[in-house]
Amino acid sequence: MTHDFDAWRARSPFYDETHDQLAQSVRTFIEREVEPYIDQWEADRELPRELHKKAAEAGILGLRYPEEYGGHSEGFDAFHGLVLTEELARPGAGGLGASLMTHGIGLPPILAMGSEELKQRIAPPVLAGEKIIALGITEASGGSDVAKLRTTAKRDGDDYIVNGGKMFITSGMRADYLTTAVRTGGDGAGGISLLLIEMDRKGVSRTRLEKMGWHCSDTASIHFDDVRVPAENLIGPENGGFMGIMRNFNSERLGMAMGCCAFARVCLREAADYAAQRETF
Ligand SMILES: Cc1cc2nc3c(=O)[nH]c(=O)nc-3n(C[C@H](O)[C@H](O)[C@H](O)COP(=O)(O)OP(=O)(O)OC[C@H]3O[C@@H](n4cnc5c(N)ncnc54)[C@H](O)[C@@H]3O)c2cc1C
Repeated sequence: MTHDFDAWRARSPFYDETHDQLAQSVRTFIEREVEPYIDQWEADRELPRELHKKAAEAGILGLRYPEEYGGHSEGFDAFHGLVLTEELARPGAGGLGASLMTHGIGLPPILAMGSEELKQRIAPPVLAGEKIIALGITEASGGSDVAKLRTTAKRDGDDYIVNGGKMFITSGMRADYLTTAVRTGGDGAGGISLLLIEMDRKGVSRTRLEKMGWHCSDTASIHFDDVRVPAENLIGPENGGFMGIMRNFNSERLGMAMGCCAFARVCLREAADYAAQRETF
């Protein structure tokens, strides 16, 4: 019996030859563009920006996004997305998929709820790997109970003024854009909106966080001090952001679950390799 990454999973009845082709093409990309450098990126605590461009050119960033914004969705289903998650896990560095693919959590609310102007402005450069987008929900005061978030956005003429902060934000140090959950109304889920904040705006500051794992994924705490953001950056209706956040979590959970299974296979492969090499007594 072989003990490689592929042998540890029974053939999925939901995969056909197009899933196999995608797996092979992502694997070739990873072997050429990632595996020779991943240890250095782990030490650097972040991925190089060029990797996003290369991943876009290889069709990885745009997978299952609409053609009109630079993606390719025709012929791809949810299982192609899971194939991609598996292959990104294969090098054994959890931060790779997390940070290279943060647009997978930052962009969908814009495509689902944003204005056409916002979609056209943000999605093409992100899917081309020229800009990095992240998602800012969690705060220092807590992440599980999203309805209690405290960062405020107060309307002032044509702008919102944002004050507060976000915690544990993946790709937060490198992000150009942050899809940010803010309180625009009263207490609870009904007072939350989503606002796209450009990270070079005056009053935005960020601090790199050290973690136990996911080393090549830069993680930040982000502070907003009277940050002026144009109201046209609102994603969906004012006080209607909570549904957008919850809808995002569904695909995130599926991806996380597949990632866990794939990383378990990586651990088994590593353990089997080590057991085969090790000579005792
Ligand atoms: C590496 C990493 C990357 C992340 N990336 C992002 C990101 O990109 N964007 C983002 O917004 N967030 C991100 N997060 C934050 C993540 O979503 C939160 O850590 C998560 O939602 C939990 O929130 P918390 O850490 O504040 O824990 P808390 O909500 O404070 O929970 C602490 C503990 O209490 C338990 N608990 C909470 N509420 C209850 C309850 N009512 N009953 C019983 N038990 C309860 C929890 O299960 C947990 O064990 C990231 C976190 C990590 C570690």
